[in-house]
Amino acid sequence: MTAVLALRDVSKTYGDVGALRGVSLEVAEGEFVAVVGPSGSGKSTMLNIVGTLDRPTSGTVTIAGNDVAAMSDDALSMLRADHVGFVFQHFHLQAGATAAENVADGLLYAGCGRRERRRRAVDALERVGLGHRAEHRPNQLSGGEKQRVAIARAIVGEPTILLADEPTGALDSSSGAAILALLRELNAAGTTVMVITHDLDLAASLPRQVRMRDGLVEHDSAGAPSASAADLAVAIGGVR
Ligand code: ADP
Repeated sequence: MTAVLALRDVSKTYGDVGALRGVSLEVAEGEFVAVVGPSGSGKSTMLNIVGTLDRPTSGTVTIAGNDVAAMSDDALSMLRADHVGFVFQHFHLQAGATAAENVADGLLYAGCGRRERRRRAVDALERVGLGHRAEHRPNQLSGGEKQRVAIARAIVGEPTILLADEPTGALDSSSGAAILALLRELNAAGTTVMVITHDLDLAASLPRQVRMRDGLVEHDSAGAPSASAADLAVAIGGVR
């Protein structure tokens, strides 16, 4: 399997704070990885660095074979457009735009024209089961539907890797379960997925868990049997 992303001894400091303190991690094409750990342990910082939204203070980051340290900001934007899709807890949709327009925005840096963007946006909405909501605005959609639109926007460019930061955190449990099922479907169709979650049952149901603490990878289940939710809860400190 080819590694789609590799972090080697990655550190990130904000003033005196060591948000990451030497993280090494490889993710192969087709994996579905859960990232867990207490608040402040560096999960979002790591995801932002993996997604090239942020650069490390030191260490090496390789995305789809490209060493990002050597790349200009423009080259990095293109790499992101080609390879990375992002999903956030609070959707980050534009309120004044329709679902189709929000999704088409995911192609702004992909170098295709307006009509092509629109066609691909509607296709992506169909993939997430929302073809019939293309002309709805976010305030006409439920939370689960908004997150589907956000996922459609993230996948419309056919990214190599889909990164999700607490994608079910703002949803009720049945909408959250449906979003997870959608992520599983996308993963089964070939997209590599990395998801930050506080939901330990969700994490335990995924093939690989990476557990962070104090800016370090404390445990990585790669190669080991999947941890149960109870094991993860004990490891994280009993909070469920
Ligand atoms: P998590 O996602 O696990 O909650 P974060 O990656 O958000 O953790 O944060 C890790 C540490 O880095 C925390 O101590 C946080 O306060 C700090 N941090 C994160 N982003 C910034 C920033 N932009 N400026 C200053 N400190 C930050």
